[in-house]
Amino acid sequence: MNNTDTTYSCLNCDRSETDVPLVSLRYAGSQEWICTQCLPTLIHHPGRLSDKLAAADQLTPAPSDDEL
Ligand SMILES: [Zn+2]
Repeated sequence: MNNTDTTYSCLNCDRSETDVPLVSLRYAGSQEWICTQCLPTLIHHPGRLSDKLAAADQLTPAPSDDEL
């Protein structure tokens, strides 16, 4: 077994860490990875990730700049 070549991918768009920067997050007891381009979706529209991130529909969306 050799796990050193494990690559991670974005929970939303499934792009690999070899293609995009990934940010690690922990939520609801599990670790996930999300790319920087999908991170705003998690912040402002977490419900859109509810089928990919468990319990994401329970997150409160942060207001976007034009709503402040
Ligand atoms: Zn992504």
